[in-house]
Amino acid sequence: VTRLEAGWIWHEGRLRRGLALELDEVGRLEGVVEVSGPPPAGRGDLALFPGFVNAHSHAFQWGLRGRVQRPAPLDGGGEAGAEPGAGAPTDFFSWRDHMFALADTLTPDSLFELSRRAFTTMRAAGYTAVGEFHYVHHAPDGHPCDPPTELAEVVVAAARTVGLRICLLHAAYLRPSGVASRVASGQRRFLDPDVETFLARHRALEGVVERMGDPSVTVGAAPHSVRTVPADALAELARRTSGPLHLHLNEQRRELAEVEAEHGLRPLDVVERAGALLPRTTLVHMTHASEAEVARTASAGAGICFCPTTERDLGDGIGPGLAACQLGVALSIGSDSQVQVDPLEELRLLEGNERLRREARLVLPPHAGSSLAATLLDVGSAGGAAALQLPTGRFARGLWADVVAIDLADPDLAGLDPELVPDALVFGASPRALRASWVGGRREPGAPVGRFEA
Ligand SMILES: [Zn+2]
Repeated sequence: VTRLEAGWIWHEGRLRRGLALELDEVGRLEGVVEVSGPPPAGRGDLALFPGFVNAHSHAFQWGLRGRVQRPAPLDGGGEAGAEPGAGAPTDFFSWRDHMFALADTLTPDSLFELSRRAFTTMRAAGYTAVGEFHYVHHAPDGHPCDPPTELAEVVVAAARTVGLRICLLHAAYLRPSGVASRVASGQRRFLDPDVETFLARHRALEGVVERMGDPSVTVGAAPHSVRTVPADALAELARRTSGPLHLHLNEQRRELAEVEAEHGLRPLDVVERAGALLPRTTLVHMTHASEAEVARTASAGAGICFCPTTERDLGDGIGPGLAACQLGVALSIGSDSQVQVDPLEELRLLEGNERLRREARLVLPPHAGSSLAATLLDVGSAGGAAALQLPTGRFARGLWADVVAIDLADPDLAGLDPELVPDALVFGASPRALRASWVGGRREPGAPVGRFEA
């Protein structure tokens, strides 16, 4: 048994003194125990919090950083057939053309490098686990890689290089959309001809991960969206996979219009009729969902993952954060397009967006007996762990010791009453305040240089 000690530990919704985390030999928490005497030298100003969980990421989109903030690409990247920026409105769909063009150029090496950079930044920002929604499966001409799981394995290897826990959300993408048959160049790398082809690769990937024997790596299934997965295939995927089930839903108004044109239904109706609205389901975005749809999500026990920095960057709109909190939906956050990698910013936007919309303050209802900041911190850690079915996200016996150390002497936090630190952390601090992090009790390569070792 080893101990992780610091001046302060986040426990049961408060920062407390005189505690330590006890870890077993494989990096699981034995418990939170009382200790006497002062904290070890140099650790008095450090506060240990559960690591943040990034429940929705597309690591390769790191390669879009900076490139999508001008109306036309620097390198005329439209030759791949995607025509980015060519007089089209700059909206989600012109951004998506950039993304298709990037996907077209990826090699296993460049995918590894972009993923490694994204995961390094996540680790440095306080994320200790990621749900990687992976849909680039094939060679540029659409033929399977050899083995077919090669690119998924590349992404997993990149996460393990920086010591990040990863749930590989293996995505099914079965058609360009329900209303358009034109396949953009980059999309060939995503598309499987049918659900059986996807499921065969899914079984293979589960086997690869099982043989790895690394408890930091797990697999879930991700029907990409109702646009790209027909309803009957969605039903098959819900029936024939287990573990976390994630899908994009209601991100764009055009998506709603396309689904209504195809099915005469709203996207959530399609998911529900396919038997895919389950307690293991996480709906990513839900930006344009009605309150009644949020209520149906809650009563099904499904969760919602908001990605507010990406939704802001793409001009998607503001999701139903207030309704989701009021109705008790299980929430999580994701860095999605990697435009910004900062769990604190995602969490503060959940509340901040509602303030702007409602011209009011302190809008989201805290959990019973808890503060708003504590509630948001819980969404950022335990919420993501639940969405990915990972035994982490809290300091409790049997869970993995995934931990971040926050420096209370950081300029954003210095001099504050510790009672106010969680509030100042969520509403005013940045990843600069992070001094160290552990995944499964281990500080790993890629972690920021801290002032102490465990
Ligand atoms: Zn996404």
